[in-house]
Amino acid sequence: MTTTLTKTETAAFINEIEAIYEEPSIAYKLRATSTWVTKSFKERTILERLASIDLASQKCYQVQPKNPNPPPIHNIWLERLWLTCTISPALIIQALWYHFVPKDNHYHTWHPLFAFVFYFLAFFIFTLQLVGRTHYYMKYYGTFDEDNRPRDYVPDKLVPRFIISVLIYLLARTAGGLILGGYDRNEPPSLGHTISCYHRTVHTVPFLWKFHSLHHCTKHPTPIQSILAGDIQELIEIFLIPLFTSFVFHLTTHEFWIVQCILIYIEAGGHSGIRAYLPHVILYEVLQPFGMELCVEDHDIHHRYGKSGMNYGKQTRIFDRLFGTLCERVECVQK
Ligand SMILES: [Zn+2]
Ligand SMILES: [Zn+2]
Repeated sequence: MTTTLTKTETAAFINEIEAIYEEPSIAYKLRATSTWVTKSFKERTILERLASIDLASQKCYQVQPKNPNPPPIHNIWLERLWLTCTISPALIIQALWYHFVPKDNHYHTWHPLFAFVFYFLAFFIFTLQLVGRTHYYMKYYGTFDEDNRPRDYVPDKLVPRFIISVLIYLLARTAGGLILGGYDRNEPPSLGHTISCYHRTVHTVPFLWKFHSLHHCTKHPTPIQSILAGDIQELIEIFLIPLFTSFVFHLTTHEFWIVQCILIYIEAGGHSGIRAYLPHVILYEVLQPFGMELCVEDHDIHHRYGKSGMNYGKQTRIFDRLFGTLCERVECVQK
């Protein structure tokens, strides 16, 4: 039976992870135990059953023969099309509602609480679609480094935290978008107006690494493991970064919704290990001429390095190039 970790147990586990990262290079040694995946679905606890949505094809968890071909170039327009088709329905539904339900009708506008439930469900459905699609490509293309190590399972000890992290992420991001975007129930969806240093700090400051190390308990992650984080890191990433961003750029609630879907899409991709050249959907053309575009392999390598850290960028490689923390790609190399 899995129970939530106590404070001392969490501290002990973090020490365990730190021991894994004592080696400053890429070392394939210890791995946290994951026995819950060997149980049949019926034997799993409720939390373990929920965690099962993170399970990709069996192939992704078995060492594969070395693929002699370089990772193929995935069509970025396919991704842009998919994002447009999955992000827009929620906005279109609200827009149509405001258009067709008469203004004098009591139900013409959406109460903030209703909007919260609606966008939470929409975000949840988007995430499920995203995970399904990412798993499909992990199976189709294979994953990075698969001839040395396949992907990691969520460790037994982290199953409860994993579920709580996903829930908090979805709830807080939805609420954050409504609050920071200044949700106005009289406004139908409109698109009116149209940071890597933090990540490096959590690796180099020992005190902060304690919180970030939980995110690094896996060297070969899967899409939803991107959300796995320590409490403080969660607080910073879910609340503080969007808050500061909202001071700089003013986004409406509906723009926040789009940004959030794209962010979770990039996070899931970066932690999927999909063995293809799959660059950032928004910034690719702008940064590619300078060799500073981010692709899936870059963050995969970040996890293989662990604490010693390379490739801190989560949207671009601009700062990694400037500060010399860029690690050349291993498999996605142009010949
Ligand atoms: Zn990191
Ligand atoms: Zn990561």
